[in-house]
Amino acid sequence: MSINRRKFLNRSILSSFALSLGIISCKDEKAKSTDVAEASLTNSAPKYPITIATWDNRGATEAAMKELLAGKRALDGVEAGAKIPEANPKDTSVGYGGFPDRDGNVTLDACIMDEKGNAGAVTFLQGIKHPISVARKVMEETPHVMLSGQGALDFAIAQGFKQEEMLTENAAKAWKKWLEKKEYQPKVNSERHDTIGILAIDQKGDISGACTTSGMAFKMHGRVGDSPIIGAGMYVDNEVGGAAATGLGEYVMTTLGSFLIVELMRQGMTPQEACEEAVKRIVKKYEDTGEPFQVGYIALNKQGDHGAYSIQKGFNYALYHKENEAFEADYFNKDKK
Ligand code: ASP
Repeated sequence: MSINRRKFLNRSILSSFALSLGIISCKDEKAKSTDVAEASLTNSAPKYPITIATWDNRGATEAAMKELLAGKRALDGVEAGAKIPEANPKDTSVGYGGFPDRDGNVTLDACIMDEKGNAGAVTFLQGIKHPISVARKVMEETPHVMLSGQGALDFAIAQGFKQEEMLTENAAKAWKKWLEKKEYQPKVNSERHDTIGILAIDQKGDISGACTTSGMAFKMHGRVGDSPIIGAGMYVDNEVGGAAATGLGEYVMTTLGSFLIVELMRQGMTPQEACEEAVKRIVKKYEDTGEPFQVGYIALNKQGDHGAYSIQKGFNYALYHKENEAFEADYFNKDKK
């Protein structure tokens, strides 16, 4: 058992009850900064419903919890949660408003997985605001797990999704600025890596997960990262728990980070220990590859215990059990800024 000390970013004044009545929203809360100790107790009493998301995506955890408190499946919760940043033009790493590739195309990746081991994914999808919902349709309406590019788009349109422009003025401006130097450097947190991975356990104790992104800003045309890859960007197993990733996808893919974390939990690690081990594997293999880069993981076991860890300082996450909160994750590179 390990006690993880995390910097408390912001405590919501919301109770689950107030949220379920729709009386208040967490969006206008002011940040407090206090320190709290968070226990990761593997054998503690079950803590669910619960939901956790990469980065301070409290809008997403709020939307997910609303579904969970209404008695819906964890799958409904994670889809609802993922749709919040997907629709937010200010979120430059996910869905509408996401930064484009180096040729100016916004290409979207997403995956979803339920408690039965069903999964769906889309990659290189253009012109659809909610790739996570298309991924769910792939899971539910096709014999396949993943559809890509034009095939994914054709499928989405056939399923009734509307084709829209995904490149916002702000993203186009950032792209034009990038074109002046054309430097591709996935720097530490500089692009915020706001990919959302979200996990939830519903009132029945079943787990699901979702992950959605516009990928690395100014990537090569056609590049697909870890986020839509089951086992890399996200993975759940209803016997054990789930995990999700954010950051430089190439290293998450080559270590199958989310699958690894779930398997480490199966072997007895706490979610925190498993996230730390998965980060250490990446550091060990790739630390000497040049520019510092960021990878962050979140994990949830079936009791509702959670973990989060990143390579560099600056990764945070949203967690909603009784309250909707955001925490700074512990990280590996303590000796560096
Ligand atoms: N993991 C995402 C990718 O490599 C990027 C991110 O998290 O920002 O596509």
